[in-house]
Amino acid sequence: MASKYIERSLLKFQQEFSTDEKCAEHLKKMRWPTGFKCPTCGNRGAWFIRTRNILDCKACRAKVSLTAGTIFHKTRTPLIKWYWLIYHMAMDKVGVSIAEMQRLLEIRDYKTAWIMAHKIRKAMADRDSKYNLAGLIELDESFFGPKGTKRGRGSERKTTVLCAVSLYQNRYGEEKPGFAHMQVVENAAAETIEGFLERLGCGVKTPDGKQLMEAIRSDGWRSYSKIAKDKGITHYKVILRDAKSAGKLLPWVHRLISNAKSVITGSHRGVSEKHLQSYLSEVCYRFNRRFWEKELFDRLVLACISTETITYKELIGPDGDYELSQ
Ligand SMILES: [Zn+2]
Repeated sequence: MASKYIERSLLKFQQEFSTDEKCAEHLKKMRWPTGFKCPTCGNRGAWFIRTRNILDCKACRAKVSLTAGTIFHKTRTPLIKWYWLIYHMAMDKVGVSIAEMQRLLEIRDYKTAWIMAHKIRKAMADRDSKYNLAGLIELDESFFGPKGTKRGRGSERKTTVLCAVSLYQNRYGEEKPGFAHMQVVENAAAETIEGFLERLGCGVKTPDGKQLMEAIRSDGWRSYSKIAKDKGITHYKVILRDAKSAGKLLPWVHRLISNAKSVITGSHRGVSEKHLQSYLSEVCYRFNRRFWEKELFDRLVLACISTETITYKELIGPDGDYELSQ
């Protein structure tokens, strides 16, 4: 794994990744940071067949694909276009418009650009799923869907999303947000929330036997109280009378929710329920790395090479249609 991330300006990026070969070279360095080693014989020397992105072991002649096990595997789109899309998705705070990316990067068609973006989002989600949330967790539910549809617990028409942000105290004793996670769920029942918290590390113990997730802060909804009791963690209840008090009493989850809503109504008009999770994962991924803005590109390439790709079929699901959003 590469541990050193590089800081680049747009100009530097343009110079460093001006050709497909340069992108392949970078990818090679990210995959084998201490140099290529043949998986068959352990030899370190290999020829690089540029036209096919294959490393050819000089000792045993084993062929190793540069892109196997990454989201770029078997792609027909040149690596340089992938790299530019990753760059934009990593750096653009409000999320990129796929239609605009397709035009700017001269990607064959909208569908291809759309699939590429979703593969990158999956890499983001996979990366974040490896992290646990620690300490005090601010929790709330939100409802995503077209304006004018019903909202509230038990709503049929809006999509329920559980949101969590871990909090820590800085050296001045101020509460700061750490890591965030948002999850599309069927409902906000106790067992759903419990499953969500478990996925985030609730119940995981630190080496000295303490709960990693120590406490939750949420409204007084009885599910939260029950879960906290079951899990043996503290529940700080806040009384939410209206949307304004939610923003004040649970400030970080509500900042995250409004951030997600502006991304979804902005660049990606009309996100269907099926793909909502992938956009939420993108928002959280960027939020979770807000202090590493300059390193975002290398981090995201690393995420893309550590993730098996998903096929178009897996992306569109049984209903068979991708979204024609902007
Ligand atoms: Zn070999």
